Amino acid sequence: MDATRHIEVRGLVQGVGFRPFVHRLATSLGIRGQVRNAGGHVVIEATGAPADLDAFVSGLERVKPAAARIGQVSVAERPPDHPEGFAIVESAEAGGLPEIPPDLATCADCLRELFDPADRRYRYPFVNCTACGPRATIIEALPYDRVRTSMRGFVMCPACAAEYDDPADRRFHAEPIACPRCGPRLRFAGVTGDPALRAATEVIAAGGMVAVKGLGGFQLVCDAVNEEAVARLRRTKDRRGKPLAVMVRDVTAACALAHLGPPDLALLTSAAAPIVLAPRRRGMLAAGICDGMTDLGVFLPYTPLHHLLLDGLRRPLVVTSANYADSPMPLERVNLEVDGVLDHDRPIVSRYDDSVIRAGGTTIRAARGLTPAVHRLPVPSPEPLLAVGAQLKNTFTLVDGDRAVLGPHIGDLSDAETHDAFDTTLERLSGLHRITPAVAVHDLHPGYLSTRIAQRHPRRLAVQHHHSHVAAVAAEHHLEPPFLGVAYDGLGMGDDGTFWGGELLLATYTGYERLGRFSRAPMPGGTSAVRRPARMALGYLLGGETFQAPPFRLAAGLPDREVIEHMIWRGVNCPAASSAGRLFDAAAALLGLCDVNRFEGEAAMLLEGAAAGHEAEPLAWRLERRDGLWVYDGVATLIDLVAARDDGEPVGKIAAAFHATIAAATVLMCERASDVGTVCLAGGVFQNRRLGAEVTSQLECAGFEVFTGRQIPVNDAGISFGQAAIAAARLACA
Ligand code: ZN
Ligand code: ZN
Ligand code: FE
Repeated sequence: MDATRHIEVRGLVQGVGFRPFVHRLATSLGIRGQVRNAGGHVVIEATGAPADLDAFVSGLERVKPAAARIGQVSVAERPPDHPEGFAIVESAEAGGLPEIPPDLATCADCLRELFDPADRRYRYPFVNCTACGPRATIIEALPYDRVRTSMRGFVMCPACAAEYDDPADRRFHAEPIACPRCGPRLRFAGVTGDPALRAATEVIAAGGMVAVKGLGGFQLVCDAVNEEAVARLRRTKDRRGKPLAVMVRDVTAACALAHLGPPDLALLTSAAAPIVLAPRRRGMLAAGICDGMTDLGVFLPYTPLHHLLLDGLRRPLVVTSANYADSPMPLERVNLEVDGVLDHDRPIVSRYDDSVIRAGGTTIRAARGLTPAVHRLPVPSPEPLLAVGAQLKNTFTLVDGDRAVLGPHIGDLSDAETHDAFDTTLERLSGLHRITPAVAVHDLHPGYLSTRIAQRHPRRLAVQHHHSHVAAVAAEHHLEPPFLGVAYDGLGMGDDGTFWGGELLLATYTGYERLGRFSRAPMPGGTSAVRRPARMALGYLLGGETFQAPPFRLAAGLPDREVIEHMIWRGVNCPAASSAGRLFDAAAALLGLCDVNRFEGEAAMLLEGAAAGHEAEPLAWRLERRDGLWVYDGVATLIDLVAARDDGEPVGKIAAAFHATIAAATVLMCERASDVGTVCLAGGVFQNRRLGAEVTSQLECAGFEVFTGRQIPVNDAGISFGQAAIAAARLACA
């Protein structure tokens, strides 16, 4: 006797080939009925023998398309129905927040065709199917259909149209479907198609630098083994010091360059295909890739074009955004001096940089393949919101009810171009999700460009920076308030008008109480001291809260030392900061590891790199009560560090001891300050894997439950999500 069941599947099930998959599964089991998209989920009406229906439901999760993420499957019995066959029903516009499918790395089936000389898409750089290909980067409007993508200008040939219309074909309703006859085409130096690709390949093989139109913007590509090519690429885009990511052909090549565990390999080969930061192996790469760093960023080809380039060149390639300095990645043309531009005629609608995840699963940058991501807020917002984020590593978050849409990485809001990029991305995402924000949420810092952007809105809410960091972690894990927040970063505006950055907060989603902090030190020259770690070392040792520094010498040079000392003694242009990031800077400077922070966090990364392979007991440190707060005194630690250095202790061992000190001080601060047992680790300093691991294990030994950002970045890219969670909760209880 046949039964009928109503099945709803939630999660990432649209734009990933889910309906054709359901059709194939149902047909193979003799199930009759239909499948359709509804709002953000998929609805199935299935009729068949109960045993077959059971197999069908379990098969939905077991053999789902690689890119699909099944959130929740609900099954309800219905009165028996008698449908004929199994149909895919056209999407009905339904309520709920529409989800934009992310771009998906080339699937195994398409890859096989790409390199099969007998296939009609042999060496075609735009091959894709319902399980892979461009999505968010080509979508102009929803629902997701070819006419509302940048593929609308390409008329399908009969062969493609037949595949597109055949429910049994894996290209059934593959909106960007294309072939060499009807699809986009490459261009390079006056030639088109495969000769263009071959010509560009030759230029790169000869040590040249080519701009390549990628998925979410133009990229610069050169040989990652060729020292000169890498140095030139750095000069061309004015990128000094900051590590470059390397694209390799396959998992084997990746494992030759970095230590990658099974979870890292799973990340690398996922449909999002992010850059994975993992401990590097000594080897063949040019020194200019990531000198002095523990980690190397590796990733795999994620478009057919990347696969073809890697296949032709058979060596690791630098693949990085083709922008100058901090400006946004270009979408239409490249304004850098390159040896050629490998262009094509499929327009890029939205900019998506490559995503970056640190081995172990901490998201550093959420962009292509990972965003826009819809997260549930712990407290729904009574009104639609726009949270504008911070200044550096900017992102924004849009909120409708309990749904928070985290937008892609925009970059450092430093100039008019990034400002424009913010506006364009915001306009597109708010349009696609149909969210018209009633309230803008911003940081307390009046100088952030994001704060000024928020001022365009008549209704605003200001949220403290470190409260946002902590709330971002708590909201990602839906923690019950109250929770302790350990927020360590470079600088953020405190509610007392001073800079914070080494904070212990007791927080809920609506408010917080500051329980502890790092000791304060003057920043000689203001935020310009961020660039010069040696200035911070002087600041701590000569102007810290407890002045007791013995005579010492700086390992790193500081040409204007006398001037700086006078600034500190007179208190001229020396704002104080209680920052963990600045203490890392000072330690790195005193160990001779870093003269100039060429990019945010460089000194701390070098310090972490130096500590690799060393174990050590903590240096000296003190925790004191001052004005009702627990204060960890960083000066005591730095003085001990200088003594160890002058005793000739190896730098690596001292660096390890410094990490152990911060971990020990953090744990004691949490134990002393409160009896709340849940701790959120937040802020950019926790991108430091060693520190994160030490603090977590020691807190867990002390009986705390510890959380940190996984999908939401712990750095300032997660600030907008934290702002959103706080504003929603405040408005809900107002
Ligand atoms: Zn595919
Ligand atoms: Zn075609
Ligand atoms: Fe921050």
